[in-house]
Amino acid sequence: MPDSVQRFLFERAPIRGEIVHLEAAWQAVLERHDYPPVLRALLGEMMAAAALLAATIKFEGSLIMQMHGSGPVSLLVVECENGRTLRATAKWRGKPEPGPLAALLGEGRFAITLAAGPGKQSYQGIVDIEGGDVAAVLEHYLRRSEQIESRLWLAVDDKRAAGLLLQKLPHPGEGEDWQRAQQLAQTLTEQELLELPAYSIVRRLYSQEDVRLFEPRPLAFHCSCSQERVAAMLRMLGYDEVRAILAERGMVDVGCEFCGQSYRFDRWEAERVFIAAAGQR
Ligand SMILES: [Zn+2]
Repeated sequence: MPDSVQRFLFERAPIRGEIVHLEAAWQAVLERHDYPPVLRALLGEMMAAAALLAATIKFEGSLIMQMHGSGPVSLLVVECENGRTLRATAKWRGKPEPGPLAALLGEGRFAITLAAGPGKQSYQGIVDIEGGDVAAVLEHYLRRSEQIESRLWLAVDDKRAAGLLLQKLPHPGEGEDWQRAQQLAQTLTEQELLELPAYSIVRRLYSQEDVRLFEPRPLAFHCSCSQERVAAMLRMLGYDEVRAILAERGMVDVGCEFCGQSYRFDRWEAERVFIAAAGQR
């Protein structure tokens, strides 16, 4: 199955959904780091969740979904750019053992940032980590920050990451359809979510309903790191700091946390980063 996210809409009820399947993009993340199994599961769920969320908002820029905490899992980050590309990374301490999310992250926060690009305004929403898993945290976030009733089902294995999102669109009424849509989605097994294409999932769950399925939108792994971006980071770090690194190591070597690409600046190149910056002022 090609990596994609696909929207569906109930024709006779104020409910919409998205289904995401990631295989190549998920493999691209796994092959770049040797993550402990607990991290793999969390990161895969985060990737599927970020793709689902990005699909629901009309937005050109980066959607960055982050969880950080004081526990064995210190950081999980997924970035989705223009709703089309994904990259992800995680950090941990020691050997994280399986357990509830709150225990893995410890004192933690969940943040979503929408960054429209340099010079443009960005938006950040932060909530405490409430709920036992990634899906519950995101449901809580969407209820709190966006006032949208949402349900998520996420599944990950070594080959794929997948997810199903249901959202209740603002509409007065009883919400019986909403209850029923959730109950039916609840019957979907993780294996079905991972292995069935979107049209089969919709048909399997909602054959009795009138559901419109939209065209799949492709997704791919892509890292937006570059020599220029690392140079910008060095400028933020400051001339004194960079000179201290040069004095100690004779060069500056920065590795991208997302894709593993390494960027080297020798003494001359590092100095030039700051000369160029001074010239721009
Ligand atoms: Zn990179």
